Amino acid sequence: MGRNKDALVAGNVQSRSESSELTPLMIQYLSIKEEHKNDVLFFRLGDFYEMFDSDALEVSRLLNLTLTHRGSSPMCGIPYHAAKIYIARLLRCGKRIAICEQVSEPNGKTLTERKVIEVITPGTALESEYLDGGANNFLACLCVQKGRAGFAYIDVTTSDFFATSWYEADMAENFSKELGRSHPRELLLPQSLEKNEIIKNALMQNEEIAVSYYPDWNFDQSLSYKRLLSQFKTANLQSFSLDEKSPEVAPSGFLLDYLQKTATTNSPHVTGIKVYRDSQFVIMDDSSRRNLEIVQNLHDGSSQFSLLECLSHTQTAMGKRLLRSWLLYPLTNCDEIHSRQNHVELFTSNRNLLEYVHETFADILDIERLAGRIAMERAHAKDLQALKTSLAAWLQVRSQLESHGFTRTEKSLAEQIVSLINDSIIDDPATALGEGRIIKEGWSKELDEYRRIHDNVNKILEDYAEEEKTATGIQNLRIRNNNLTGYYIEITRGKADAVPPHFILRRSLTNADRYTTNRLQEIEKQIGEAELKITETEKALFLAVRAKIAEHTAYLLQTAKEVAYTDVTSALAYAALLHGWVKPLVDNSKHFVVRSGRHPVVELHLPSGEFVPNDIEISAEKTDDDGVLPYFALITGPNMAGKSTYLRQNALIALLAQIGSFVPAKEAHIGIVDRIFCRVGASDNLARGESTFLVEMTETAYILRTATEKSFVIMDEVGRGTSTEDGLSIAWAVSEYLLNALKCKTLFATHYHELTRLNHPALKLLCMDVSEEADKITFLRKIKEGASENSYGIHVASLAGVPQSVIRRANEILGSLHSDAALAENGVNVGNLQTAQSASEKTLEKSLAMPGLFSDEELVLDEILSSDPDDMTPRQALDLVARWKKSLSGR
Ligand code: ADP
Repeated sequence: MGRNKDALVAGNVQSRSESSELTPLMIQYLSIKEEHKNDVLFFRLGDFYEMFDSDALEVSRLLNLTLTHRGSSPMCGIPYHAAKIYIARLLRCGKRIAICEQVSEPNGKTLTERKVIEVITPGTALESEYLDGGANNFLACLCVQKGRAGFAYIDVTTSDFFATSWYEADMAENFSKELGRSHPRELLLPQSLEKNEIIKNALMQNEEIAVSYYPDWNFDQSLSYKRLLSQFKTANLQSFSLDEKSPEVAPSGFLLDYLQKTATTNSPHVTGIKVYRDSQFVIMDDSSRRNLEIVQNLHDGSSQFSLLECLSHTQTAMGKRLLRSWLLYPLTNCDEIHSRQNHVELFTSNRNLLEYVHETFADILDIERLAGRIAMERAHAKDLQALKTSLAAWLQVRSQLESHGFTRTEKSLAEQIVSLINDSIIDDPATALGEGRIIKEGWSKELDEYRRIHDNVNKILEDYAEEEKTATGIQNLRIRNNNLTGYYIEITRGKADAVPPHFILRRSLTNADRYTTNRLQEIEKQIGEAELKITETEKALFLAVRAKIAEHTAYLLQTAKEVAYTDVTSALAYAALLHGWVKPLVDNSKHFVVRSGRHPVVELHLPSGEFVPNDIEISAEKTDDDGVLPYFALITGPNMAGKSTYLRQNALIALLAQIGSFVPAKEAHIGIVDRIFCRVGASDNLARGESTFLVEMTETAYILRTATEKSFVIMDEVGRGTSTEDGLSIAWAVSEYLLNALKCKTLFATHYHELTRLNHPALKLLCMDVSEEADKITFLRKIKEGASENSYGIHVASLAGVPQSVIRRANEILGSLHSDAALAENGVNVGNLQTAQSASEKTLEKSLAMPGLFSDEELVLDEILSSDPDDMTPRQALDLVARWKKSLSGR
């Protein structure tokens, strides 16, 4: 802090409430700040949290707060009671906030003791104000040791804890894939990875994640192993598929350590970890996931116009989170998919039940996070009430579902928790202990007794006021109280003469005086005692109720999972009925057959009935006589004809089928796919210094290296980012490789018509139908067998409003290109694309050079404008005019 430090210690910064403590206070501040260099320090001074120096500069900019200066030191502050709003905003900016509180009472003599009681970070925040109800709040960690990378992430609010691993050599694909789908709010990394280019690149794509680095010794394998054992209270980690050497151990252990040390969060409800392997879910690299716009759109990153939007009929926060995770982790296990499908079908075939669940679930709050808050001793009385109403609603629904395998938990335990809360907590309790009533009458004899005294004391107070009114004859005598003076008798000035001598004057106001009496002080003491006892007893009783419920945390978390599952399956049923989707046949074959398939998102945003459904039939299965079926569809057609939509709709149908959902089609047979690749369009990644073409080729390389026979590949316009010759050659070679080496189901859209000359038994030619009547061209959006004959690019240019003169000229050039290309083609071997292509490129050059590219008028005008009459003899001028006349009169 250099100069600022001096300024602070010299007393340039004054507190709003403790100016007398100035210099020692700032020394105290600086020593605490030294410990929290990476955090924004909220330094409590009276009723404010103050920030100084660089913290003040940054926070005032981020939160638009007024920056004040004392001497050369900037400062800004926020009232402590409004802190949550500001903290939430800072967390969204990826900041960590250290809350420094006054831990001793200010006595005016010595410096109030201060301590950081909590560090709130984006990935460890617990309060609902800081969380997005519909998404998990993951804190993640990556470690690399001995050539293996381990990645773990935890949402401490819900107890979801996951880990996976991969070989260091596969870092590029895996890190961005895992980061993209887990989407953590905060990521912890060892310092040795700070300069790693792959990690840096992936983080550049995810700038909203708060990243911090820690010395490598923190990520100790054996210490982490012990931490996990003690957290899960097990003798080994076999049941979690982990051992002492598993790469997942170090990052998982560090996460627990971080939660405890940094965020001072004990998380007894975290009792296990799910270690998963890639093969359990459909593998989708980060760019395929983004391109398919599954949970967010490419345009602004919101869920509008994404697949999630079409399915968003969940009623609870837990369901919303689960739906998201289903979409990001589609299944590869047939039985699991069937089980989900059957539950969806139960609702589609029983609409009354669906309606009932849908309505009742509207009353269910976030049981999962409530259970977490209870286990972490953070829940207040209103949280318990929320748990009660939620469990009661779930109990109603579950009795209707019991025979259908939605629930395995014991009903009676939920009933017991509901009655416990019902009997102990009042219906609309105060939030904080000591701020009002919490415990119901009849729950504790002891508490009822204190309340009786307390209420009686109040009565005594009223009686005493009556007594004094009669004795003094002062009818408007009132007994009041405030925090400062406590109880007092207020008498207006006009009655001052009637005030008896045993009244002791406390304060004089403009219109009234305030008195006390010995009797009043005695009553006040009784009230104070009773109030204290009530608060103390209420607190103890409340904590006992909460602790009792906390014993059932595992049960509550399991119930939350059942609620979420029911919510998601019913939401999928709701979407299926609303949009007219069908249950697909999902099996372990390699077929992919869809009749009347639709793109769920495009259809949703088009007027009803305008979306044109399309079929697809490809299969990587062998025929009975060991021949091949078509598994590679080459799709040609003009721009804007609907190729991309067709490609994506089929990838989305595969994905929907594998999350257990119904699909937008009349009929579908989906053989389970292990990976979905979606290479669509060209997207520059200039921030990373990569050109469109390099990105395109990197993604293509990834597909060619990793696709298997069970994969589903959609490729749109591969090779577009380079010269025509290069691009066509690459597209050709990539197609051959997919056809001959990988043999996976592929939809390949291209504008290179030459590709349709590919000859392979597994190749199927499809094109988008176009109707040409007179001069009118209509895109029918209908897929049909065969190759497209025309690219209609000029038609699209015209639709886009390119001036008609340019369109006319483009048509002229196209005409001459076609006739020249036809000539060239006659002399060219059909397989020899290089030559064919060069011929058409040469034609273009010729065409551009040929006379007639500019009109005579334009040429004359150009000469007039470029001539200089001052620099001409009369003879030269005459010659020029003659030449112009000649060239124009030849028209
Ligand atoms: P291409 O990839 O051939 O350039 P797109 O798939 O981008 O074409 O489609 C262009 C537009 O046509 C889309 O914005 C969409 O609104 C519309 N469209 C595509 N397919 C259909 C369809 N099957 N039915 C109705 N409209 C469609």
